[in-house]
Amino acid sequence: MERFSLINRGEILLWNNIDELKKLIKGVDLIFRKFPEVFEESMLLSREIKNILLKIDPFIELYTSKTCSKCLNICCLNKNSRYEYDDLIYILALREEFPIPDRNLKDREPCYLLTDKGCRIPRYLRPLRCNWYFCKDLLKEMETSPPRAFRDFSNNFNHMLYLRQQMLNSFFQSLSSLKVTDL
Ligand code: SF4
Ligand code: SF4
Repeated sequence: MERFSLINRGEILLWNNIDELKKLIKGVDLIFRKFPEVFEESMLLSREIKNILLKIDPFIELYTSKTCSKCLNICCLNKNSRYEYDDLIYILALREEFPIPDRNLKDREPCYLLTDKGCRIPRYLRPLRCNWYFCKDLLKEMETSPPRAFRDFSNNFNHMLYLRQQMLNSFFQSLSSLKVTDL
């Protein structure tokens, strides 16, 4: 039986070929659009993940606004912000739009989502790697928070990672029940 082959794991390596990236996004989007019942659990879990990210956003923002605004070596470069297949699945399970760049990207350039005012997309749509990268200075600043607030943040973050894994497991399990000819 022929199975879907467009979805891999790990980093998406199509930033230098935006047309192919668009095809990949369209393919994954079609899966959710055509089979909402099959992927219901993944979609439900993606909304739970989003809610946790919304909950921890003010905590992270409090410390990034202090630290990143003074940073002389901003880490938001294309090479650091590449979405992974897991991010793509999560964003499309949420039925949100994936932020497609309008041109091929070069690694060493500032991230295509970076503006004068910081990142132009909400935290819950950013690549996971952006949401869990805390440089030394940022981490030091965060550790000055009241212990309870830090503990809550840490617990929520770990729970979000757990749910993300559940969401992906559910997605791949549902995917394995489909055939290419179903599309
Ligand atoms: S996370 Fe660290 S390296 Fe990145 S912009 Fe903020 S302060 Fe700079
Ligand atoms: S997606 Fe946003 S947070 Fe991540 S590197 Fe780009 S501008 Fe920075």
